[in-house]
Amino acid sequence: MRQNRACIIGSGLAGVVIANRLANESYDVTILERRPHVGGNVYDYVDEHGINVHKYGPHIFHTNNQDVYDFITKFGGFDDFDLVCGSVMDGKCVKTAFDFSSIDIFFPEEANEIKEHIKKEFGDAKSASILDLLNSSDALIKKYADYLYEKDYAPYTAKQWGIDINEIDKQVFKRVPILFSYGSKYFDDKYQMLPINGYTSIINKIIDNENIKVKLNTDALSICKLTDNAIDIDGYENFDVVVYTGAIDELFKYQFGKLPYRSLRFEFKYENIDSYQEMPVVAYPQVPDYTRITEYKKLPKQNVKGTTYAVEYPVKYDKENGNEPYYPILTDDSKHRYEQYLELSKQYKNLYLCGRLAEFKYYNMDQVIERALNVSEEIIKRGANV
Ligand SMILES: Cc1cc2nc3c(=O)[nH]c(=O)nc-3n(C[C@H](O)[C@H](O)[C@H](O)COP(=O)(O)OP(=O)(O)OC[C@H]3O[C@@H](n4cnc5c(N)ncnc54)[C@H](O)[C@@H]3O)c2cc1C
Repeated sequence: MRQNRACIIGSGLAGVVIANRLANESYDVTILERRPHVGGNVYDYVDEHGINVHKYGPHIFHTNNQDVYDFITKFGGFDDFDLVCGSVMDGKCVKTAFDFSSIDIFFPEEANEIKEHIKKEFGDAKSASILDLLNSSDALIKKYADYLYEKDYAPYTAKQWGIDINEIDKQVFKRVPILFSYGSKYFDDKYQMLPINGYTSIINKIIDNENIKVKLNTDALSICKLTDNAIDIDGYENFDVVVYTGAIDELFKYQFGKLPYRSLRFEFKYENIDSYQEMPVVAYPQVPDYTRITEYKKLPKQNVKGTTYAVEYPVKYDKENGNEPYYPILTDDSKHRYEQYLELSKQYKNLYLCGRLAEFKYYNMDQVIERALNVSEEIIKRGANV
C-alpha cells in the first residue's frame, strides 16, 4: 500500500506538531517554510554575545493542560520559570500584575488607608479588574485606579493598538486583574517554564523523524495551485493532506479583502553592563513609541558578561514592507471576512487549517499545541476511513 503523503505549510508549533503526529503514523511528510529557519514565532538562537534571545518576542511556556505538558516535555528539558514583569511609571518600576506594592510605591502616605478601603469594599476578594476600581464611589480607591489607568493601562493599550486613548473599549481591561495582596505573579498556571536548550532545539526534536523532510526559504503559495476541490503543490507529487498554517486571506488571494493585524518591530541592542532593567520584561507606558523591553539574560537567568535587550515597537501591519502579522485585530467586519474565507476553504477536500494565522485567532503556545494535536487526530481518523 502506498504511504499517505502530507504537505505542511509553515513550521511554527502548529505545523511541526502535526508533522510529528502524522510521521509517527507513517505518513510521508514534507514541511514547506518561507523563513530561513524552523519554529515560526517561537524561534530562538544564541547571539554573538553568547545570550539566548527570542527573535520574535519573549515566549514563556505556561499551561494547565496535562496532555500538552506531557507532549512538549518529551522533546527536551524545561526549567520552572515564574515570569516577573514590571511597568515603569513616573520613573519608578513596579511589578505587574499590579499588587499592593504599587500602592506602597506610588501612595506611601496613604498606603495603609487605601488598602483598608479596598478590604472594606471588596471583602475577601483576591483581585478585581481596574474597571471595578474605577467605578468605585470611594475617593481613595478611585484615586489609585485613576493613577494606574492614566499612567499605564490607557497609554499602553493605545500605543499597542495604534488608537487614540478615547477610542479604547475599557472592557478589554476586565481580563487584567489588580491584586489585593503582595507577591504578584504574571501567569498563574500549573506549569510555567522555559526550555533549557531553547525553543529551536525543542522544535528540531519534534521534527526529527525519517518520515519528515523540511524545505526552508520556500513560499508555498508561489508553488501551490487551487483546483476546484483540492490544493496541488507544483513540483511535488500529489498530497493526500495539505495542512496550511499561514494567513488564510493570503491563501485565497485576498478575494474577500485583507484581514487586519497589528505588527511589531524589535530593535536588538547590546550593552557592556551587568543589568539594563530590574526585571526580564518591563513595560514603558509613558514612552511615546515603544511598549516594552525584554532583557534576555534574565529569561532564563544566563551568567554572561554584558546584556542583550530587545525594544518592542508596535507598528502597522504591512506585508509589502516586510512586516509580520502578529496580533489579529478582531472586529465585527474582520470576523465576518474570516468566516467567508473559512467557508470557502471547506470546498478543498485535502485542506486542513491550523494555527494563529490560518484561524485568525490569538493562540498561546499551549493552545496551539492542543489544537494541532486535535487536528492531527482528525486527519489520522479520516485517513484510516478512506
Ligand atoms: C510577541 C509575542 C509574544 C508571545 N509570547 C507568548 C508567550 O509568552 N507564551 C505563549 O504561550 N505564547 C506566546 N505567543 C504566542 C505564540 O507565538 C503562538 O502561540 C505560536 O507561535 C503559534 O504558532 P503557529 O504555528 O500558529 O504560528 P507561527 O509561529 O506564526 O508559524 C507559522 C509559520 O508559517 C510560515 N508560513 C506562513 N505562510 C507561509 C507560506 N506561504 N509558505 C511557507 N511558510 C509559510 C511562517 O513563516 C511561520 O514560520 C506570543 C506571540 C507573540 C506575537
